[in-house]
Amino acid sequence: HAKFHGKNAFSFFDSSMNAEAVDQLDLLQDLRRALQKEEFELYYQPKFSASGGHVVGAEALVRWHHPTQGLLAPSAFIGLAEQSGLIVEIDKWVLQQACRQMGIWRSEGHTQWCVAVNVSAMQLSHVGFVDSVKSALETNALPAGTLIIEITETVVMGELGASMQVLHALADLGVDVSLDAFGSGHSSLLHLKDLPVKELKTARGFVNGVQHGPRDRAVISAVVQFGQALGLRIVAEGIETAEQRSYLAAMNCDVLQGYLLGHPLPAKDFVGKLACCKTA
Ligand code: C2E
Ligand code: MG
Ligand code: MG
Repeated sequence: HAKFHGKNAFSFFDSSMNAEAVDQLDLLQDLRRALQKEEFELYYQPKFSASGGHVVGAEALVRWHHPTQGLLAPSAFIGLAEQSGLIVEIDKWVLQQACRQMGIWRSEGHTQWCVAVNVSAMQLSHVGFVDSVKSALETNALPAGTLIIEITETVVMGELGASMQVLHALADLGVDVSLDAFGSGHSSLLHLKDLPVKELKTARGFVNGVQHGPRDRAVISAVVQFGQALGLRIVAEGIETAEQRSYLAAMNCDVLQGYLLGHPLPAKDFVGKLACCKTA
């Protein structure tokens, strides 16, 4: 361990920043053990048909039951997982777990549902990724069409060449790729037309804009119409108000998702909760 040179050196450090760095190191230690200790759990947020109101599936969102800090959302540890490379193992577990759950739902009769899994840039470019998708499908006897892989636009635009191959391989398998949080990053509209993606999820900020006024509504409308013109399935996420829901349904979005319609829930609560709140 590095020792600081002399007493006064300490004064150059912001003690709160230092404490934060130590916290992150501790968290990284915990993260390394979290997979073996089975501390991760998937929550599932329902997605609804905008026209029919029925459930079309769920998005799997990872949670970490930290031994001392309690339930942690992805924002508390995904960054660290990406920096350390642990995300590859975590995302692989997420994929397997979500496919297992989809198999259970299918056996219970929910054969029209799809499950969506978020995949980080690092996982997408990992050599074994397409094979792990294939094997997760096979293990659970899932038709490829029941799985959606959500990627963020930065993932794709970063290394277009490499990701193109993977995206085509997924498309060949029959797995749909979804562009998550579309419009929040800096994807080139020019490239988007060439990407083998099936679905576009509008960034939450656009959906919020519905409340703000005509200029904000012009932006969300343009994003939706842009995706529609490319023949993509449009998912509006982050729907929190009835006004947002009706606006986006009127825009002919295909799928709606958000706290108004359903929060992310543990698998054991998912089906039960839907039975009593199918109002979308
Ligand atoms: P995302 O994929 O865009 O997921 C949507 C996020 O918005 C989720 O947060 C969800 O709980 C939240 N959300 C849903 N409806 C609403 C709403 O009406 N209002 C608001 N304010 N928020 C809503 P969560 O679960 O904290 O996940 C955050 C992000 O972490 C995800 O954004 C995704 O990028 C990432 N993530 C989650 N699970 C995984 C995973 O298994 N692997 C990887 N690589 N990333 C993941
Ligand atoms: Mg997502
Ligand atoms: Mg999203």
